[in-house]
Amino acid sequence: MERETLVTLLIMTSGGLILQLLAGWARRQPSGVDPAARERQAWRALCRPAVPILVCAAWFIGWALLEPDPVRDPLDPYVVVSLWLPFGVLFARAVVRALWSLVREPPECGVSTFGLLQPQVAFSPFLARRLDEPVIHAALAHERAHARHRDPLRIWLAQLITDLQWPWPQAQRRLSEWLEALELARDEEARREGVDGTDLAAAMLASVRYVSDLTPRQRTSLGGTQFAHARLVGDPDSLRSRVSQLLKPLAPASEAAPAAAVGLRRPLVLTLVVLLAVMALGAAFGQLIIRPLLALTT
Ligand SMILES: [Zn+2]
Repeated sequence: MERETLVTLLIMTSGGLILQLLAGWARRQPSGVDPAARERQAWRALCRPAVPILVCAAWFIGWALLEPDPVRDPLDPYVVVSLWLPFGVLFARAVVRALWSLVREPPECGVSTFGLLQPQVAFSPFLARRLDEPVIHAALAHERAHARHRDPLRIWLAQLITDLQWPWPQAQRRLSEWLEALELARDEEARREGVDGTDLAAAMLASVRYVSDLTPRQRTSLGGTQFAHARLVGDPDSLRSRVSQLLKPLAPASEAAPAAAVGLRRPLVLTLVVLLAVMALGAAFGQLIIRPLLALTT
């Protein structure tokens, strides 16, 4: 069997199996009143179940670097079909949905931030005509906060991680909790830049009214849960709590937790270092696990 094919099968089967086992674990509710800290906590809870796939992939790739190609002991076709097929279908479904979210026509939602690598803010001129200048400024501040944190990319990754745990409802709940915490954190960030909470609340309500005035076909396109952009109004069900939060006085900066580091650079570098270490371990000790595994399945 081709070495790359075998590694792909091993990653999908072992990573997918562990991911499914972890997906249903009881989660800790994000706690604390500081929106930025709550958002980080919810993000970590969402990403944690995906760690085994990355670790498995690094280990198997490290092992494959020193393995002759093709691999000597081919897998039994029955084992391939029975073990790999369910996870292959799961991975294929997640990847297709992730790609679809990138190529589909973006729904009209008034104000949004799109672009995975270079996020940009889109502001409908039809909506802007209805708003006063401070309200437009408030909406733009919220969206620019999304762009600074590369939230379209994070939302896209979060959807992919959630889809890999399909059909567990716990995974969908982790995604919903993070999206809700994300919007509250960006509202807070915009207010710390000097935006008035009432102006931001007015922008959100105007955005909801704008979307409700769209044609039924445009409204239908908003119904899908798969998307790769951030919006001013995320989940309409959380609108009431967001508006009530915006009307409260802003906590003094000294009482709030330190601001989150902008961007994904630090966690990405840390993850890369850990994965390289796992890859080195896989190259050194991969035979000890993989050879007996292959012997069992041939
Ligand atoms: Zn938003």
